[in-house]
Amino acid sequence: MIVNLIKKVFGRGAGAGPATASGRVAGPVTVGVASHGIHRERISSCARRTTEGLQANGYKAYVVGGAVRDLLLGLEPKDYDIATDATPEQVHAVFRRSRIIGRRFQIVHVMFGGDLCEVSTFRALNGGADDGNQIKDEHGRLLRDNVFGNQEEDALRRDFTVNALYYDPATEELIDYADGVRDLERRVLRMIGDPATRYREDPVRMLRAVRLSAKLGLEIDAATQAPIAEMSTLLQNVPAARLFEEMLKLLLSGEAGACIRRLREQGLHHGMLPMLDVILEQPQGERFVMLALDRTDERIRAGKTVSPGFLFATLLWHEVLAAWTAAREREVPAIPALHEAMDQVLSVQAEKISIPRRFGGDMKEIWLLQYRFSQRTGKRPYRLLEVEKFRAAYDFLLLRCESGEIDPEIGEWWTRFQHASDTERENMLLPPETEDGARKRRRRRRGGRRDSPDESPQVDGDAPAIAGVVPAAADS
Ligand code: ATP
Ligand code: MG
Repeated sequence: MIVNLIKKVFGRGAGAGPATASGRVAGPVTVGVASHGIHRERISSCARRTTEGLQANGYKAYVVGGAVRDLLLGLEPKDYDIATDATPEQVHAVFRRSRIIGRRFQIVHVMFGGDLCEVSTFRALNGGADDGNQIKDEHGRLLRDNVFGNQEEDALRRDFTVNALYYDPATEELIDYADGVRDLERRVLRMIGDPATRYREDPVRMLRAVRLSAKLGLEIDAATQAPIAEMSTLLQNVPAARLFEEMLKLLLSGEAGACIRRLREQGLHHGMLPMLDVILEQPQGERFVMLALDRTDERIRAGKTVSPGFLFATLLWHEVLAAWTAAREREVPAIPALHEAMDQVLSVQAEKISIPRRFGGDMKEIWLLQYRFSQRTGKRPYRLLEVEKFRAAYDFLLLRCESGEIDPEIGEWWTRFQHASDTERENMLLPPETEDGARKRRRRRRGGRRDSPDESPQVDGDAPAIAGVVPAAADS
């Protein structure tokens, strides 16, 4: 149906040329609702009230970008962006519940009910007059581009043709500046202007090309694709926090598996997670990561939540495992060795993409709990069930089993243990003097408590290696 709608749009005449090689753009072309089929009822109430409010005050206002693109494709937009000729201060003056945010470019968050949409003022083209507002680094990356402009300039400074579509809920007309509707019909993702220049200005556009093409099922146009291989190293100059944000969007897109495969084909994964290429080189690491990503995609498509901490914990797990094994080979006891491995992996990672502290905390907890799954004697398993992150850590354990990293028996044991009756649980516990067949050294502190050594994993630092679940020490 959507394709038909788009096809109808092509009734408007095939004369307009594509928006590419020369960087010249045909348009704008105005498309009526009879052709594009997007009625104003399809737009979120927040976005509609925002455009209405601005227009009632004499400003131009359109729904723009990803939302229009997604509606044309028959997808539910993730969020709504509004573009206007009003300045951020003017927008703020129109809406009581609004807030100006951002420093590099100010945008306004407008709230209606529990909903929010982002309003940005039309911005000018990059690479215009060097008036001090368009500062670039030595690689051509734009450090500032906060110059207001007119609507056409605003359209042309956007990345892809399919993202330069403006929809006015009042007239239900769509304004297409760069032949984006045609590209959508042809299922092509095409950069506006000269691709190499646009990647130099903002290397993140290479990642956006991969993410949007995977998410929307679009083919990257040949000219848009061509410079990526050579320019991928420019990602190294992008601030770590921005890379994290983009990586998160990619992982939560519902097409994470496809995105990572494409990043890899394009050599772009080097710039993102420095260790991801190493991990993906090992068959076991690759199996684990791909399995985790496919599961994430299933959850997202089913409308379930996913935790970023869990995701990043899976991406880096095999690197942690390698570092843990190496430390155990130096005869560092299991828990201190695990702490050492985690810190090492996270600090190397931080140089590239900075994982916010709260996610780092979640990741460490999930990793640490992996050790505690090996402890199946006495009160320990009961206490583990009470831990807040148990569920996430258990899901993680199952992925390890399924990927072939560890014996599935341990995963099955924990599945049964959770649902078993009190008596069954008691019968399931391993004998106190053994743990997974390894001999347990009895530790006794003179005059100290003898119970609950697992309350704090750190004091358990000299616990024995558990075959198959944690790396063995060199001498065991
Ligand atoms: P989605 O929200 O589905 O991830 P999107 O295209 O809407 O995709 P946003 O990050 O919400 O992505 O950006 C909104 C719009 O801003 C885009 O559609 C595009 O027009 C413009 N835009 C975003 N990032 C860039 C960029 N790096 N360079 C140029 N234009 C951009
Ligand atoms: Mg968006």
